[in-house]
Amino acid sequence: MPDTDNQDTNQSPPYEDVDLFGSDRPLQDAVRVNGEGAEADALAAFGRRWGSAETFELGRQANANPPKLHALDAKGFRRDVVEFHPAYHALMAESVAAGLHASTWSADATPALPPAQVLRAARFYMAAQVETGHLCPLTMTRAAVAALAVEPALAGKVVPKIVARDYDRRFVPWPQKAGVTLGMGMTERQGGTDVRTNTTRAVPAGEGYLVTGEKWFMSAPMCDFFLVLAQAPGGLTCLLLPRFRPDGSVNALHFRRLKDKLGNRSNASSEVEFAEAFAWRVGAEGRGVRTIIQMVQLTRLDCALASAGLMRMALVQALHHARHRTVFQKRLAEQPMMRSVLADMALDAEGAVALVLRLCRSFDLADADRDEAIRARLLTPAVKFWVCKRAPAFVYEAMECLGGDGYVEDSLLPRLYREAPVNAIWEGSGNVMCLDVLRAFSQDRDAAQTMLRMLAGEAGNLPGAREAVARIEAVLSAADGEADARAAVERMALLAAAAALRVGAPAPIAELFARTRLGSGQGAMFGVGDLSAAEASAILERALPA
Ligand SMILES: Cc1cc2nc3c(=O)[nH]c(=O)nc-3n(C[C@H](O)[C@H](O)[C@H](O)COP(=O)(O)OP(=O)(O)OC[C@H]3O[C@@H](n4cnc5c(N)ncnc54)[C@H](O)[C@@H]3O)c2cc1C
Repeated sequence: MPDTDNQDTNQSPPYEDVDLFGSDRPLQDAVRVNGEGAEADALAAFGRRWGSAETFELGRQANANPPKLHALDAKGFRRDVVEFHPAYHALMAESVAAGLHASTWSADATPALPPAQVLRAARFYMAAQVETGHLCPLTMTRAAVAALAVEPALAGKVVPKIVARDYDRRFVPWPQKAGVTLGMGMTERQGGTDVRTNTTRAVPAGEGYLVTGEKWFMSAPMCDFFLVLAQAPGGLTCLLLPRFRPDGSVNALHFRRLKDKLGNRSNASSEVEFAEAFAWRVGAEGRGVRTIIQMVQLTRLDCALASAGLMRMALVQALHHARHRTVFQKRLAEQPMMRSVLADMALDAEGAVALVLRLCRSFDLADADRDEAIRARLLTPAVKFWVCKRAPAFVYEAMECLGGDGYVEDSLLPRLYREAPVNAIWEGSGNVMCLDVLRAFSQDRDAAQTMLRMLAGEAGNLPGAREAVARIEAVLSAADGEADARAAVERMALLAAAAALRVGAPAPIAELFARTRLGSGQGAMFGVGDLSAAEASAILERALPA
């Protein structure tokens, strides 16, 4: 009989019933400097709730029981509904009550007062550590308001239902619901990045349009509305497509199948056909990309937040295990090489959360401060690029820290590992993020200079900072910089992370991050960062107090 209480098993106890805020000094510091330390008590309560064994179990159940599509009923009539496990609904209800889907907006579609972005981000980051699939519709819902805001009359009807803190899972017309969620349909079979190749058509009809065509990926199909792109007479146009027509009948969205995905399994991602589905126009005809890009900036920010959350959970799982597991008569966490690996990972995790929360502050201040608006525009793709692409390798290394146990489904690591790549792929894949930075640099060189000046000032004398600025400027300003853009964009994100740490973290942490990430000679693997034993100890104690 296995004895889970026996100290002699040499196994680490489950990492649960923990305080995801109180145990996370890097997060607390990032909230302190970017969010003026607001709502610390409420964040701690959220951290305890999401760190409870019960919430971890909901995350497990929601992924072990993926959603099921019911396209037709027994008699062959269309149903087009997706059934989710009760654990998914429970997570949605928790997150909606906490405002993860809308707390950065007021009911009139204007931004909520700062530090709304930072406070939501702190919660989103903690929730992502436990379950990321259900965050997909919540991300899209809060981001959609940025696009809807261009149509005040429509926004005036829909946004009050969005900002409500009620999760209403019923499949009924939206006016009857206490709260609603929104998805997004851009990607078609022939093109995801290049949405100009969209062939879905929108024909004006009465008070709206009739949309016909297909979307190759459309996640969270039980949302109440979808922002979609379609070719209207005036060109590619953004439209709001409800699940029910204004007369209360079910709209013509026909789900062909759900994607069988590597990860993100609690969330449904559909292939869908629109058969003259009713929709309202959002923004002018022909300005679809410009309209929906307002939304995409925010979903990109959330991708980086979610990946930072995945990294944090992978790190603490590894560190927690290493502090309990003994190999060769010594705890793993005391073995010098393991300490180098864990400390190197902790530096990345700390850089990631500092970087993303500083970026959220820019979103908080963008309306009132031109420089912060520039920073939000130029840094978002760079931050998404680095954090989201760092996460899969990071989670893999954490898995290895747990040895064989990390490879087994009962541990959380396989789920984190399967989840990690998607944030880099959707909402603009890696190369596309770098192309976006290049485009922004070439379109507005003054803005690019302003941002680099800001980063240089904040990074000060950190090792490698001055050289990084010169290198970024050279590559991103060159007429033929495309082939080298990845290195420059990565460096820009690392510089911004070092700058954020210099403002918010203890000085040695910022120094170590800059020395090992911006300085020369860093290898690609974790644990090759040339940290002394004392430096590793300081980093690890801060990452998760023993
Ligand atoms: C789980 C999941 C859920 C999704 N949900 C949604 C959803 O709800 N709504 C939605 O609209 N879409 C959704 N997507 C689609 C997703 O956004 C696209 O897959 C993504 O944008 C990439 O588009 P693509 O698949 O057509 O790849 P492509 O556009 O063909 O790109 C393939 C690769 O080429 C690279 N690339 C592209 N252009 C260049 C270039 N000029 N130079 C160098 N490299 C380049 C890209 O970075 C990428 O790595 C989802 C995808 C997944 C996996």
